[in-house]
Amino acid sequence: MTFRASILTLYPDMFPGPLGHSLAGRALEDGKWSLDVTNIRDFAADKHKTVDDTPAGGGAGMVLRCDVLAAALDSVADGRPMLAMTPRGRPLTQAKVRDLAAGEGAIILCGRFEGFDERIFEARPIEPVSIGDYVLSGGEVAAMVTLDACIRLQGGVMGAASSGEDESFETGLLEYPHYTRPQEWEGRTIPEVLRSGDHAKIAAWRKARAIEDTRSRRPDLWEAHGEPPVQSPSGARLKNEEN
Ligand code: SAH
Repeated sequence: MTFRASILTLYPDMFPGPLGHSLAGRALEDGKWSLDVTNIRDFAADKHKTVDDTPAGGGAGMVLRCDVLAAALDSVADGRPMLAMTPRGRPLTQAKVRDLAAGEGAIILCGRFEGFDERIFEARPIEPVSIGDYVLSGGEVAAMVTLDACIRLQGGVMGAASSGEDESFETGLLEYPHYTRPQEWEGRTIPEVLRSGDHAKIAAWRKARAIEDTRSRRPDLWEAHGEPPVQSPSGARLKNEEN
């Protein structure tokens, strides 16, 4: 099954953009995911191709019209999840990405200006999604972020060995830090334990660093997940360790 992405945007030329390069780009060429891009403006009904209007109640900026958005959405709707990029949405998480990535694909609506007429969320089953607590100028980059996260989880996109299960957020922790050659650089050396060849010691060090960095950098994550159960190399649960 190929992950199918449909983008609705006022700036179709922005795609595939970064998704045409590296892992995602190669996977697109190899048919491991597909992309179609629809220009919302093609669904404007008047001769001036109007897609927006002034906000009801007054205020700055312009609002995307719900009738135009609905016509554009309806042209691609086929049962895949429909997402709208908005800072008012639920935050995108790795769990949500896993969920989306396991499905048939996604239809993603990109906003511009002040955003969407709210009635579009009442009239169509659209999930509002935010990529973080900051405001972008448009939803296209947010859609690319969402797709990139889904694409790298598709079968055969990453190397066979790295299923991504070790990575940040998958266990409720940030990943441990990485090092590579040179062994000494500007007077700094790679932590000795990583050169010891002792796999149990290395795993324990990595676990401790993952915990330490999560606690200090992301107290919100630490509080939400608490300390995850310690896994033995065989996957059996051991008792929680205190560090
Ligand atoms: N007036 C809106 C911001 C509009 S920004 C508000 O204050 O909530 C213009 C468009 O950029 C939005 O419609 C949305 O599609 C996109 N956008 C901006 N920030 C975003 C974020 N954090 N996550 C996802 N999309 C975002």
